[in-house]
Amino acid sequence: MVYVCKYCGKQNSTPDYLAGRSCSTSPTGKHVIMSEKTVYICKYCGKQNSTPDYLAGRSCSTSPTGYHELME
Ligand SMILES: [Zn+2]
Ligand SMILES: [Zn+2]
Repeated sequence: MVYVCKYCGKQNSTPDYLAGRSCSTSPTGKHVIMSEKTVYICKYCGKQNSTPDYLAGRSCSTSPTGYHELME
């Protein structure tokens, strides 16, 4: 599961990591994690989607299984 700052797009798997750091694009001066919306990322090609099923059902040229595999 990956958390994304909705202003600068910075990603981290730990929400506290982003929340505690300053963001130059955010009006609050800190990263703001996209509300409720989690982004799933293929660990082989880096493709992102908010729906895990979207990635899991599609083929990936970089993955050894031939399908996208989501990052933990
Ligand atoms: Zn940010
Ligand atoms: Zn992929």
